Amino acid sequence: MERTFILLKPDCVQRRLMGQVLTRFESKGLNVVAMKMLRITPDLAKQHYAEHVEKGWYPTLEGFITGGPVVAAVIEGLEAIRVVREMLGATNGLQAAPGTIRGDFSSSRQMNLVHGSDGPEAAAREISLYFGDDEICPYVPTITPWMRAADE
Ligand code: ADP
Ligand code: MG
Repeated sequence: MERTFILLKPDCVQRRLMGQVLTRFESKGLNVVAMKMLRITPDLAKQHYAEHVEKGWYPTLEGFITGGPVVAAVIEGLEAIRVVREMLGATNGLQAAPGTIRGDFSSSRQMNLVHGSDGPEAAAREISLYFGDDEICPYVPTITPWMRAADE
């Protein structure tokens, strides 16, 4: 089992796509084990996007990500980090494959609806940036025996 961090960005909340996006992860068989709505501060944005802070376009990203409420969540499942990234699709919605979340709902390089951790280190860092250990609620869904074979 693996955990990854997702963020439903302000465009996702404003466009009323939260439910559709979460439904995709749930339908895939991933478990939501933590979730909260918050407003990202400039300070949190700089921590979250530390790798991009020095880029010329960072100020527009910060303005976007702090511009409205977001939903942060921890998603758990087999190979969850890779599976979620592939479900998101390419960064630019115009280049993301049809069938992916960005490919189906976004026509923007910046307003691409959902963030997902890009590897195990990022997942651990981002989960701890948004959630305390006591805010994570692991559980085994009773439907698990009908989601995959016992040896998977
Ligand atoms: P990803 O979210 O696919 O990992 P990046 O790490 O490259 O993409 O970028 C982080 C986020 O910054 C993107 O999801 C997007 O919202 C925004 N972004 C990426 N490139 C640009 C850009 N050139 N100008 C403005 N915003 C950008
Ligand atoms: Mg990235």
